Amino acid sequence: MRGKEMINYLSTRDTAASPTEYSFEDAVLTGLAPDGGLLLPDVRTIPQFGTGDLPSLKDIAHLASDYPTLYALIVTQFARPSFSKDELQNLAESAFSDQNFPDTNGNPVPVEEVIKNVFVQNLSLGPTAAFKDMALQPLGRMMEELLARRDRKLTILGATSGDTGSAAEAALKGLANVNLFMLSPKDGMSPFQRAQMGMLSGGNIINISVNGDFDACQDLVKEIVGMDEFKDIGAVNSINWGRIVSQIPYYVSGYFQAVGENIGEVVDFIVPSGNFGNALAGFYAKQMGLPIGNIVVATNENDVLNTFFETGKYKRPPGRAQITTSPSMDITKASNLERLLYYLFAQDSTRSTQFLQQFSSTGQVDIQDFGRTTEDLRAIGFASSRATSQQSSETIKTVYDITDGTIILDPHTAVGMHAALAGPRDRKAIVLETALPVKFEATIQDALGMVPQRPPRFANLEQHSPDDAFMSIEPVAEELAKIIRRFRS
Ligand SMILES: *Cc1c(COP(=O)(O)O)cnc(C)c1O
Repeated sequence: MRGKEMINYLSTRDTAASPTEYSFEDAVLTGLAPDGGLLLPDVRTIPQFGTGDLPSLKDIAHLASDYPTLYALIVTQFARPSFSKDELQNLAESAFSDQNFPDTNGNPVPVEEVIKNVFVQNLSLGPTAAFKDMALQPLGRMMEELLARRDRKLTILGATSGDTGSAAEAALKGLANVNLFMLSPKDGMSPFQRAQMGMLSGGNIINISVNGDFDACQDLVKEIVGMDEFKDIGAVNSINWGRIVSQIPYYVSGYFQAVGENIGEVVDFIVPSGNFGNALAGFYAKQMGLPIGNIVVATNENDVLNTFFETGKYKRPPGRAQITTSPSMDITKASNLERLLYYLFAQDSTRSTQFLQQFSSTGQVDIQDFGRTTEDLRAIGFASSRATSQQSSETIKTVYDITDGTIILDPHTAVGMHAALAGPRDRKAIVLETALPVKFEATIQDALGMVPQRPPRFANLEQHSPDDAFMSIEPVAEELAKIIRRFRS
């Protein structure tokens, strides 16, 4: 692989003539850059697969048990000099161990064919049954290692409407140098998700239930990190580059599992999307030279991304996000789009910043007014789709029927599968599975008239969660600030 000695990380909002260069370590340990931007690699330093690389990667990807090796090979290209390949290999072996990914026979990211040319890649076989484990498990280990080297402690503040909370807590639980404060809305999470978080409360994991909705939780995070006293707070949502980079390897593995010996065959990926972190990782895989045709950004009724990729218009919908059966995709603003815009405008941060400013002041902005077209979006590989809760539910049923009951999709994955089954397919498509259906029993009950069988490790989950697992606050920043101060002192 052709990579540089060191990748330069830049901030999407740095408009200086010679922008500040950040390291991988900065990109993992800081939430936002000091100017409020997101850190990302300088496009000129993105590593490229050479012609000889794909066959040797194939050998590794085909050795299913070698996902940690594949992970280390790819991520080290972005992580030098903070991490060597051997360090990442050790870290990945622990993150993707049999203990963390039980019942996977050594391949934590298996691909299955649903019907001819349509595949699903399972990414939720980890500790919390959501694909977020794929990135958070290694990220927690990276953070701990970097902090231990510098004898530093890190406070992390996050907000969750479901899967981020438990995946981050499972990854950071018990770490000596990290405290995690996780905000969640009082109502809205499934009982399964709430119990998962409740079980992890205690020690360095502080669960806080906010008397408000998810937007209120996110507003609180913004307010706190905007305070001088808390400007060193870190993040575990997908504004953290460590999340994005850790999602590239499974695209590579999925690709080789789907094409077999036919290296070079072009494959589409269909990605159930919310904050646009997962799909962005696919964009990097394609930029590196993996033969991906389209990255299809699949949305539910909260379709700001679908509108953007279809029309070039980025529009804030009136009011709050609609409530759907795929709650992890119920967003009105996709944070990671900022990273894509930066590349779309050829790293001209003045233009991408103006674009975002117009969005925040007027709620509507069009790439055509900034010298770009929807063809430009196609040219870098993006397509999009939309499915309603009704269509997601019908897709769960269809896939259940055509696979004789062997595959039960979760409602998020079904939003992606809807796009895969919508028209004739002349090339292979891989739908990324983002959660196990057991997390959404009520929706599966509605679609199939029964609930999916729980893996034994989740049996009776709800009974284990202590009642006092969550602290409760009103959506007032000072209440939260007090709690954080108390734990930090
Ligand atoms: C987080 C999540 C998504 C959205 O992923 P993004 O990277 O934010 O686009 C989709 N489905 C499930 C189940 C999730 O937990």
